[in-house]
Amino acid sequence: MIPKTELPADVGLDTLAVREGLPPSAWGENSEALYLTSSFVHPDAATAARRFANEEEAFVYSRFSNPTVMMMERRLAAMEGTTGCIGTASGMAATLLIVMGLLKAGDHIVCSQSVFGSTIRLLQDFAKFGVQTTFVSQTDFGQWQAAMQPHTKLLYAETPSNPLTEVCDIRALSELAHARGALLVVDNCFCSPALQRPATMGADLIVHSGTKYLDGQGRVIAGAVCGPSELIDSKLMPVMRSAGMSLSPFNAWVVLKGLETLSIRLKAQSERALQLARRLEEHPAVSRVYYPGLPSHPQHALAMAQQSGIGGAVISFVVRAPDDRARAAAFGVIDATRICSITANLGDTKTTITHPASTSHGRLTEAQRQSAGIVQNLIRVAVGLEDVADIEADLLRGLDAVAP
Ligand SMILES: *Cc1c(COP(=O)(O)O)cnc(C)c1O
Repeated sequence: MIPKTELPADVGLDTLAVREGLPPSAWGENSEALYLTSSFVHPDAATAARRFANEEEAFVYSRFSNPTVMMMERRLAAMEGTTGCIGTASGMAATLLIVMGLLKAGDHIVCSQSVFGSTIRLLQDFAKFGVQTTFVSQTDFGQWQAAMQPHTKLLYAETPSNPLTEVCDIRALSELAHARGALLVVDNCFCSPALQRPATMGADLIVHSGTKYLDGQGRVIAGAVCGPSELIDSKLMPVMRSAGMSLSPFNAWVVLKGLETLSIRLKAQSERALQLARRLEEHPAVSRVYYPGLPSHPQHALAMAQQSGIGGAVISFVVRAPDDRARAAAFGVIDATRICSITANLGDTKTTITHPASTSHGRLTEAQRQSAGIVQNLIRVAVGLEDVADIEADLLRGLDAVAP
């Protein structure tokens, strides 16, 4: 048996974020140990046999499990309020693991059309294995209902979505899924459990890109699936063992330590984002701001109810420009910045700025982009921890230049 951390029952989220994991080793280290080992030694051949046959819980081989990875998994599960979690090599590997573990040829997925671009591509790629996906408007519940088929096994949403911060009603989707014997998967990358806990609203599986806010400082690629431990052990763990999209212990350790500061980082970044969003909304060169914390956001009330009253740290906005100048106007604002990092990553303490239509959503067709609202004059900013006045000045430099 792998022992548990001893904590009083019902400790709060911030305590779990710092304390949950595994008990320290014989050396009594206070900071969690990084176990860089590919395999584990057994006392004798019979014990090894039992452990390989899953008759005795122990660490065997780091493609299956590893103490540092398990610390991250237990901590993230505790924060999400799920009984299980499995670390994966990336956020995309988390989605791959779910599809491989839960679906077979003939099964059907209903997915928001506003999910991460690579998620759309991955689900479409599964058509060649006989798994079909219908893409629907994230915010139009009627489309989700209409897309349900007898073999629908998964509903897949990402809320708020990237980059337009569309918010869907997690509880309503979970009720729809469960009434039809399907599972709801929620990509909780933008809010993280610091702001939103989808499992408490009926979601069955939660996908994370640990690359984003969980690490929080742009250092590693990582991912995880949180959900019921029986489902993870019976359906996902066997795929992990054979397919090997395993999380490296080093990356797990970075994410583990990132979880300790997740809540204070994301709240501070969200405060800055709200201030910037308000400023952008008043600017004459901005025709639209997408930010769930603004009352002008179409799902503001729902977002506030689901996200602990906090909008998150990602803002998108449209630069006012005629159609034939749309891309040039966006590039002008991006290129005028001197502090923001021009990169498609997000969730970093460094503010990042990107042009979704030519980066994260560049592989989609123009028709897919149009239907998802990814216009050429759209800019996404993932607000970091710099002085907010400096980021504001950085954005206004370009916007003031194109202001009418
Ligand atoms: C980045 C991202 C992913 C993919 O995560 P990787 O760690 O890059 O594989 C999935 N969903 C969302 C919302 C993301 O932002």
